[in-house]
Amino acid sequence: MAKVIIIGGVAGGASCAARLRRQREDLEITLIDRGKYVSFANCGLPYYVGEVITEEKKLLVATPELFERRFNIRVKVETEVLAVDRARKVVRLKDLPSGRESEEPYDTLVLAPGAGPVRPPLPGLDLPGVFALRTIPDSRQIRGWIQEHHTTSAVVIGGGFIGLEMAENLAHRGLKVTIVEMLSQVMPPLDPEMAEPLHERLRARGVDLRLGDGLAGLEPDPAGGLRVKTKSGAQFSAGLALLAIGVRPETKLAKEAGLTLGPLGGIQVDAEMRTSDPAIFAVGDAVEVLTYPSHRRALLPLAGPANRQGRVAADVIAGKPRPFRGVQGTAVCGVFGLTAALTGETEKSLKAADRSDYAKVYLHPGHHVAYYPDAKPIYLKLLFERPSGKVLGLQAVGEEGVEKRVDVAAMAIQMGGTVFDLEESELCYAPQFGAAKDPLNVAGMIAANVLRGDLQLADWADLEKEGDKLILDVRDPAEYASGHVPGAVNIPLNELRARSGELPKDKEIWAYCRVGQRSYYANRLLLQKGFKARNLPGGYLTYLSLNPENSRG
Ligand code: FAD
Repeated sequence: MAKVIIIGGVAGGASCAARLRRQREDLEITLIDRGKYVSFANCGLPYYVGEVITEEKKLLVATPELFERRFNIRVKVETEVLAVDRARKVVRLKDLPSGRESEEPYDTLVLAPGAGPVRPPLPGLDLPGVFALRTIPDSRQIRGWIQEHHTTSAVVIGGGFIGLEMAENLAHRGLKVTIVEMLSQVMPPLDPEMAEPLHERLRARGVDLRLGDGLAGLEPDPAGGLRVKTKSGAQFSAGLALLAIGVRPETKLAKEAGLTLGPLGGIQVDAEMRTSDPAIFAVGDAVEVLTYPSHRRALLPLAGPANRQGRVAADVIAGKPRPFRGVQGTAVCGVFGLTAALTGETEKSLKAADRSDYAKVYLHPGHHVAYYPDAKPIYLKLLFERPSGKVLGLQAVGEEGVEKRVDVAAMAIQMGGTVFDLEESELCYAPQFGAAKDPLNVAGMIAANVLRGDLQLADWADLEKEGDKLILDVRDPAEYASGHVPGAVNIPLNELRARSGELPKDKEIWAYCRVGQRSYYANRLLLQKGFKARNLPGGYLTYLSLNPENSRG
């Protein structure tokens, strides 16, 4: 009987094992993990620390017994794979409780060893009270530490999605949380202005958010706990520290076995998840993949891709080959009642790829119609290709209905959809769920207006650039008085038809309002009257996100 060994028994490995058994009864499948558990929900760990999930057993999606009984998959936990001998097709194992070593032969090997937390060479990272969060025992230790030491404060190093989820959960347990983030924004995949609502929310919920500052080191605090030192020279105390500055693909086995690694440091695989050795596959956080549809190399340590890659590898091993489509970077994170989500390209990624054939629109629609109670705004940024209109990416932040819009856009991107498709999408509507013109329809309509030449956009980034232009604020005088773009002239939309004679015909007029809708109406009016009008997308709300120092007054 042909033998398949899978190293790593969580997202990618467990999916691969179960799928393979569903395809092939005739294989001997062995799943090996050095931890005590297989198929556990690492995505749930922050919520277990925060006591939102109260029972540890709820984190166990499947047990070794279930794998054995239901799927006839041999599971070896607390077993570390020390080495892969490709010439002899054997793996060397160490039973961790006994220390005993042995060998196990394979015909096909799957590497699903995940990623490990990045640990920079800084002083104090091995002190008691410093944690990373990857496993159930890690979360148990953090919970135990808080209980035992009556911890009242924590520092989270890194403002990525695990850092943010942990900040929320530690705060949920009553700890005073500080986030130290080297970049000038949290959730780095987002464009900076889209992270701004997250910054506001974190600060509003009492998190001490230190952006643009890195950890310099940790020391024991003579008064108890840890003394945190940052690169800017700041020092403060914390009862515990959580290291969440990212993960690195776990490639030790692959490297030592002589498998090819990609330029980003992940295991290199082909579209069928095969490594440079045809008998060895690799899936999950450990591999380097291509983005879809732009075919750039990427590391994307997320559960969805790991699961899908596990299934692809299983199908290929089972003799039903199909390619992995690639990753779009669809991700979501909850932060103190706000949801931030994205899919596809961001302006950052487009600029990094040297692309200029794109346009963007911002909008701030309610998640459902305004007349139904509790409509919450969603900050949306849609990126699309010029002139084709292909949807390139969507970012959204808000309290409700955020991930639904991003999920629709994710599918549009995967199907090669355009803004004209978004404009025409037939989406769910009843007053409590959306609007007859859903936020995504509206995003598509604005973008389609741009491509059809009905609307010319200006870029907020060009506000300071030289050029003969007049900035026109079409909001009501009270709105204007409470804050406006420096130098803007105020003519409320309702007066514009009568007062258009006050505007110059030889200059571009860049109009804005609060969110972009009234200025669009102003644009249509001015264009038809022969003015050179442009719309500043997303209105004053977008201006404030781009210039947060103004919103903090
Ligand atoms: P893993 O699930 O990490 O599994 C790898 C396994 O391999 C580990 O159990 C490890 O012990 C084992 N292993 C490694 N080397 C060896 C060896 N030599 N011998 C034996 N065993 C070995 N993703 C999302 O999409 N959404 C989320 O909300 C989300 N939240 C997360 C929250 C946390 C706290 C963490 C840690 C991750 C989160 N992720 C989330 C990421 C997601 O969990 C990972 O992308 C996914 O688990 C990767 O799957 P994988 O199979 O590649 O690796």
